[in-house]
Amino acid sequence: MISDPLLSIILPCYNEEGNLDTLITAIRQSLDPQQIAYEIVITDDCSRDNSWKLLKELAAADPRIRVQRFEKNAGQSAALWAGMKAARGRYLTTLDADMQNDPCDLPKFLAALEKFDCVCGSRVESRAKGDNKIRVISSRIANRVRNALSGETISDSGCCFRAFKRECITDLKFFKGMHRFMPTLIKMEGFSVTEIPISTNPRFAGKTNYGVWNRLFSSFYDLLAVRWMKKRMFRFKIAERVN
Ligand code: UDP
Ligand code: MG
Repeated sequence: MISDPLLSIILPCYNEEGNLDTLITAIRQSLDPQQIAYEIVITDDCSRDNSWKLLKELAAADPRIRVQRFEKNAGQSAALWAGMKAARGRYLTTLDADMQNDPCDLPKFLAALEKFDCVCGSRVESRAKGDNKIRVISSRIANRVRNALSGETISDSGCCFRAFKRECITDLKFFKGMHRFMPTLIKMEGFSVTEIPISTNPRFAGKTNYGVWNRLFSSFYDLLAVRWMKKRMFRFKIAERVN
């Protein structure tokens, strides 16, 4: 275990046995030349395949890899949150474990973090390479609706490839589905947020956990909550203070 990592790579994992070796190799290839101290924190969301056994083997072979397993399947946001809580880096990065987000983009995130508190990946330009037409179109519509109703301008709020300073999440309240609203929630905390274009690969192995309906409907409900939160948030500045 690295005692004081600069960067924590946080991955949610549900039935990703076919992706884990490739993913860890790709992260090493991308980050080792950067010569920074990093850790990889993987939360197994109670996979039903061999993922947990593989994760324990990976962790036994490399002290930079830290793994934990949920007792029951709790969903992607919960796995991300548990990873963020366990992470010890000054900078945190989240990405999917299926190689759709490509670890070769990690250095670009680190460079952008020098100017911004939070950097979000956008798949708008690359998405057609890794996802089918229905997903590309439904995501475009979802982003438009989300932006219109929450007064947001993020082009790809569903993309979980992000990097941020750890203080960005200190005061966040997490809820199921919140991974789609992190840029907005972090902005609401007063941090600077930017987007960078990233690559999108087809899923390397295994299968997606979402269909069009569960992606869009549950996230519409969450959108109303975020819209409400944004409307009702405190907006004040202390003008003067004595003692
Ligand atoms: N995931 C998870 N718990 C779940 C569903 C998904 O931890 O209940 C993880 C999954 O292993 C992957 C990421 O969340 O690392 C994104 O999932 P998926 O690829 O299915 O989503 P999509 O890319 O299709 O939106
Ligand atoms: Mg995926």
